[in-house]
Amino acid sequence: MGKAEYFETIIIGAGPCGLAAAVELERNDMDYLVLEAHNIVNAIYNYPTHQTFFSSSEKIAIGEFPFITEEHKPKRNQALVYYREAVKHFDLNIRVFEKVTSGSRTDEGFIIETDKKSYSCRHLIIATGYYGQPNQLDVPGGDKSKVSHYFKEAHPYFNSQVLVVGGRNSSADAAIELEKAGAHVTVIHRRADYSKSIKPWVLPQLKSLVEHGRIKYAFNTELLEVKDDSAVIRTGDEIKEIKNDFVLAMIGYHPDYDFLRSFGIRLTAYEEGYAPSYDHATMETNIENLYLAGVVAAGDDANTIFIENGRFHGKKIIRNIMQKSALGNQHL
Ligand code: FAD
Ligand code: NAP
Repeated sequence: MGKAEYFETIIIGAGPCGLAAAVELERNDMDYLVLEAHNIVNAIYNYPTHQTFFSSSEKIAIGEFPFITEEHKPKRNQALVYYREAVKHFDLNIRVFEKVTSGSRTDEGFIIETDKKSYSCRHLIIATGYYGQPNQLDVPGGDKSKVSHYFKEAHPYFNSQVLVVGGRNSSADAAIELEKAGAHVTVIHRRADYSKSIKPWVLPQLKSLVEHGRIKYAFNTELLEVKDDSAVIRTGDEIKEIKNDFVLAMIGYHPDYDFLRSFGIRLTAYEEGYAPSYDHATMETNIENLYLAGVVAAGDDANTIFIENGRFHGKKIIRNIMQKSALGNQHL
């Protein structure tokens, strides 16, 4: 490897929150680079093809760059166009299809290794999201090829027996789409009632399909095993084997904890999983000059940080970097 290329600040991840942080650096004429493993806004690119956001357009806009759509809530495709335009408008410094594979601390800052080269920086912002790490089904057969953690479109499931696992928004959206496309849908949810997280305009549609027998919805039910042509489920004491062609495990996502740990970021364990340690006023972690932006900061409590609020993390971070640098200059 040659000499590491230096930037004052490196942002890992060009999702909406990494991009919003880059806008703040750009506006303040600061030296920075964004490294993105795939294309920009890769999580949104991987959403279901026809996904409608629950947020209105202006709530997922970055850097006050207007996002105008005729409908109140934008669709995935419109958001892809918007973020491409925002990157052009602010002329952000991004290198795409360059994955950060590891990093380490030095006396001056950080060394970052990608699958292409080495970088060094003084400040590091991790904005890697969670969508690349789906939660796993911890049951026999949970890793069979008929099990998927992402739902793109319903068409392939026409006339098939599909089991949807999980009880929140991805599950509800997928179940409704699948039913429309002529799949035979069973949803299993481990709780006793519909989740309060399901969006209020989605829940009545789901309930109606369940009440009319178009979708089977089993509460207090867990998956025990995935077999080639069936799935074994348990409701209370009753164990049933049902015909099954595909399993959609809509059971959420989590940050890449090994990646965070490798930088020395402290992770606090709680009942539901892990949460990284950081100062909520500055987004700085327990490691000096290492910040989190976006949903990666939420740990396993992914329903607390969205684009809507994560897009403001960059402002807090850049304010902190500038304050530190002003203090440093005073001491010169
Ligand atoms: P991400 O968007 O996940 O971006 C992280 C980026 O980092 C990715 O591009 C990834 O490729 C890159 N990356 C990861 N690891 C590396 C690495 N090692 N090296 C380099 N790059 C890396 N939120 C809302 O506010 N409103 C909504 O309406 C809404 N609708 C949603 C609908 C669906 C179906 C889903 C799944 C989520 C929705 N969300 C919504 C949540 C929203 O998508 C996330 O909160 C948002 O994507 C978080 O942005 P982020 O920038 O933190 O992370
Ligand atoms: P989620 O909100 O994390 O919900 C996961 C669901 O799976 C929960 O019902 C959970 O049960 C269940 N679950 C978790 N682990 C399980 C296991 N091992 N076995 C069985 N069930 C398990 O995930 P999501 O629905 O994919 O949503 C992810 C993010 O995308 C959220 O931020 C959400 O708001 C967003 N989203 C937005 C839209 C939209 O804008 N229209 C659509 C889809 C998703 P409990 O309920 O018991 O916790």
